[in-house]
Amino acid sequence: MRASRAAPAEERREAALAARWRAGLRGPLRLEDGRLLRVIFPGVPGGGPGPDFRGAILEADGDLLFGDVELHLKASGWREHGHHRDPAYASVVLHAVVENDTGAATTLHASGRAVPVLVVPIEPMQPLPGFAPPCTGAAAAGFDIAAVLERLARRRLRAKAAALVPLVANRGAGEALWRAILRALGGPANGAAFWVVGERVGLAAARECLARGGPAALAAALGQAAAGLPLRRASVRPAAAPGARLAQAAGLAARLWPSADAPAWPAALAEPALLPRPLVAVGLGRATAVEVAVNAVLPAGVAAGIWSEEAALAAVSRLPSPGTYGLLRPLEGWLGVRFRTAAALQGAILLHRDYCTRGACGRCPLSS
Ligand code: SF4
Repeated sequence: MRASRAAPAEERREAALAARWRAGLRGPLRLEDGRLLRVIFPGVPGGGPGPDFRGAILEADGDLLFGDVELHLKASGWREHGHHRDPAYASVVLHAVVENDTGAATTLHASGRAVPVLVVPIEPMQPLPGFAPPCTGAAAAGFDIAAVLERLARRRLRAKAAALVPLVANRGAGEALWRAILRALGGPANGAAFWVVGERVGLAAARECLARGGPAALAAALGQAAAGLPLRRASVRPAAAPGARLAQAAGLAARLWPSADAPAWPAALAEPALLPRPLVAVGLGRATAVEVAVNAVLPAGVAAGIWSEEAALAAVSRLPSPGTYGLLRPLEGWLGVRFRTAAALQGAILLHRDYCTRGACGRCPLSS
């Protein structure tokens, strides 16, 4: 950090950031690249030239990270201070910032290391200084914030289901479910490419592979189908790398369609209330299973008319949030709430995407 001749207000904010990091952050924390982060040990203050904290121990979606942590008010401070070509910063494993003004998911060092970025609000339950959007007064004005977020979550669920309806009509509920699962496992980085993989290896072909050689044969077929597609591998942890995700999809398919005569809509998914348990497969953690449930299984079930919108929405409201993204943290601060359920998070994602990022302050559902 240590910006030279920082203004007093800036110095206070830098000190607040360092104090907040030193005190230890409790989850769920979400890196800008989408991974969940747990701080096991924040490290010790550097106390001189070099990174702000030394010897931190972190866990990012199951991967242990040992190294240094650098703090900045803005992500662009890394380059402004020349850390990108300073060997002293080659062991930095986390770049914690108050504002990700570069928009990049990782911070690059000349050694080739891509350092994950975490957005750390200094005052998480207070409006950010300098800007108080109308929603900061929403609770005082009598808005039921949870109810508004749930209404927006319903809109998001409805839109996802509607997008799957043509595929259900043409190819059946099982096919729509299979492709939606692949897309959800691909995540924001590789979801579109994984959807193409599902087009190339449809459910019938996938089941043939399973009957012939089990999950390994299906994983190999999915890998072949993905060859040549633009897949993002940089800054992706091993468990979320495209090959690993396709193997997880194969394992999940074997669990959902365990025999040649298993129904197209899996018996394991008879009730939305069972989610996410039937989706937790080898290599697929609970948070990812929640993402698959919310983004694939529940919309497909609604699109196929297997579940009512009410039943699916009740499941989304019951599921815990898989973790708030850094870009939604300011919204939590302005609203004075935490997005603890999957429904709250889904509603917040829609609010942020359709209103906050479109200059809709004063016209959004929470403008007081
Ligand atoms: S658009 Fe977003 S930031 Fe603006 S008032 Fe609405 S919720 Fe708040």
